[in-house]
Amino acid sequence: MNSQFRHLPSVDRLISERRIKQLERVYPHQLLVNLIRQRLERERRAIAAGNPCPAIDEIVASISAQLRELESPSLRPVINATGVILHTNLGRAPLSREAMTAMDNIARSYSNLEFELDSGHRGSRQSHIEPILCQLSGAEAALVVNNNAAAVLLGLTALARRKEVIVSRGQAVEIGGGFRIPDVMRQSGAKLVEVGTTNCTYGADYEQAITPRTAALLRVHASNFQVTGFTQSVTLEEMVTLGRQYNLPVFDDLGSGCFLDTTIFGLDPEPMVPQSVAIGAGLVFFSGDKLVGGPQAGIIVGKEQLIAKLKRHPLARAVRISKTELAGVAATLLHYLKGEAVEKIPLWQMISASLEEIERRARLWAEALDGLAQVIDGESMIGGGSLPGSTLPTRLVAIGGEGKGKGKNVVQVLAGKLRTNEKVPIIGRISENVLLLDPRSVLPEDDQVVLAGLRNLVTT
Ligand SMILES: *Cc1c(COP(=O)(O)O)cnc(C)c1O
Repeated sequence: MNSQFRHLPSVDRLISERRIKQLERVYPHQLLVNLIRQRLERERRAIAAGNPCPAIDEIVASISAQLRELESPSLRPVINATGVILHTNLGRAPLSREAMTAMDNIARSYSNLEFELDSGHRGSRQSHIEPILCQLSGAEAALVVNNNAAAVLLGLTALARRKEVIVSRGQAVEIGGGFRIPDVMRQSGAKLVEVGTTNCTYGADYEQAITPRTAALLRVHASNFQVTGFTQSVTLEEMVTLGRQYNLPVFDDLGSGCFLDTTIFGLDPEPMVPQSVAIGAGLVFFSGDKLVGGPQAGIIVGKEQLIAKLKRHPLARAVRISKTELAGVAATLLHYLKGEAVEKIPLWQMISASLEEIERRARLWAEALDGLAQVIDGESMIGGGSLPGSTLPTRLVAIGGEGKGKGKNVVQVLAGKLRTNEKVPIIGRISENVLLLDPRSVLPEDDQVVLAGLRNLVTT
């Protein structure tokens, strides 16, 4: 028997320690007992592995540190200076003031979520958003769910289960985060029939694959990559024409989905929701928090008779949208309806920001760094599975980069310091051993925090 075990204090001994007694004024007794037990269990294993028994003070300190960590919120705001405007790991789209207010109002009280105030009867949560979506998209009907992956899953489950769905091989893509179109289709119970080759698919490929078991033709927007060179794909128009001939609906997974013409801002064209509806897609799927610029949601617009089947399906209940997100999506969509999206939605403010304005901010940031940085030309990305390969010119604050070898470490250390910035973590990106900060993806109201963080970097 290892004698170190005997030095390990008992639970009772620890609970009567002065510092633990102090903690007991703030925290429940049982929580402290549980933490002590877990700590002692870990120490027993450590001793068995040959480590010495820790001092009582050490154990007490580790418990109070653990409490502090449990108490400080793990999920917290950060400043996105990566220049990737829709960064999935950083929470995608920041919301407009109006969207935040709408969410706050609905979160703080009861609401008429599923209650008709006129009749006093039970209502549908979709009634608060469907008219807005129909106006915006020109569709007959609409449905909003938890996210776009759920929207696609619901559409295929409700309309193509035990049947076949034809998709171009070039569109059987992985979106990121493990979301693969073929996997989702398998979950839905629909059989995926891939046609064409990676780079070329023709109308005849779809037509030859149609059987009595075919439920739909599916188009998937290749959100995060481009096929260039010798390529051939079938337009949505051609797919809809073919679908009409065989009485089959066309499903269009737009991924991001967009209500503004991105070419106005010097970007590549991103497929627009009203276009897909006008061309005649039966169902159009897109995200609430990509180029729409709202909270997380999956939006489906399309033909009344198809949407009705989705609404009735049991899975619709499992993937339903929360009341707060619903309020946020509705408020965000209203900006488009009122023609004020570019002024009100942070995403579009970032995309439309002038180079002069970004340069001005970059210079201020660089000044705060006191000669440690310079302002250089660069490119911002849209991200979030939209506009692959399409970037916006920007000005970057570039830190470090001189001197190889040791320089790498310095840049990593600086990036780490910004990430652990006391007030709000600041996230940049490292490229070729230079730490780059892009003002475009930072809300202008956060500039003061950035400046303080940067000043801190040179003084510590
Ligand atoms: C992003 C994306 C999805 C998933 O959308 P979420 O809202 O993240 O669930 C589905 N399909 C395509 C084509 C996408 O780009």
